[in-house]
Amino acid sequence: APALSVRDLRKTYAGGVEALKGISLDVAPGDFFALLGPNGAGKSTLIGIISSLVNKTSGDVDIFGVDIAARRDAAMRLLGLVPQEINFNLFEKPYDILVNYAGFYGIPRAEAAQRAEAELRNARLWDKAQVMSRTLSGGMKRRLMIARAMMTRPKLLILDEPTAGVDIEIRRDMWRTLREINAAGTTIILTTHYLEEAESLCRNLAIIDHGRIVQQGPMRALLAQL
Ligand code: ADP
Ligand code: ADP
Repeated sequence: APALSVRDLRKTYAGGVEALKGISLDVAPGDFFALLGPNGAGKSTLIGIISSLVNKTSGDVDIFGVDIAARRDAAMRLLGLVPQEINFNLFEKPYDILVNYAGFYGIPRAEAAQRAEAELRNARLWDKAQVMSRTLSGGMKRRLMIARAMMTRPKLLILDEPTAGVDIEIRRDMWRTLREINAAGTTIILTTHYLEEAESLCRNLAIIDHGRIVQQGPMRALLAQL
């Protein structure tokens, strides 16, 4: 099954805004996929529905063949989400943030401890495990957000505008981390409004505008047209 399959997805918000007007797309297992589009295109709405934070109006979404409406818990176990805003407690230590997050997902303490060390090492944050996370640099905080999402060992990692508003050094640093995660086998989907980011990272992309996909395919084919 595809890592993600979306069929004729529509979303009309209360108040009448049609944020998604019939979106269909497939993302293959192992892909690094970009949803590229300007502000207001519908990217966050799409990500919100895929991660069960926003109710769809109609259409179907499967994650690795699991229907998110019919089998929500099973589908969400396959998915890791990195939200746009930093939303961990700045007065907790990175190690505790990761272990507590795993606990919330029912991962036993010993396993959580092992994963926390592994993920902090992957994120190049192991030497920061016991500092107050408030003291981490902007780039380190972003990497901690990714490390936290990886604690549940998702098969599909979704990031909403992961590098919006960060400087080029932090952006490059996050790109490196995301490439490593993808190379280790996790399918990644990110939203972005930077063509440069999609170009640098992604094999395939969909361009979304006014709630519709206006172009979809391999990055290389798209660049050849520009
Ligand atoms: P993007 O992530 O591409 O910037 P969004 O999905 O946030 O786009 O927004 C798509 C459209 O839906 C916009 O017109 C936006 O104003 C509208 N919208 C987003 N969230 C809500 C909401 N909670 N209620 C009403 N309208 C919304
Ligand atoms: P920012 O770009 O937000 O200042 P970075 O995370 O990119 O933060 O790192 C800033 C500096 O800290 C860089 O010189 C980098 O080499 C170094 N650095 C990165 N990760 C760690 C870490 N886990 N421990 C110590 N130093 C680090």
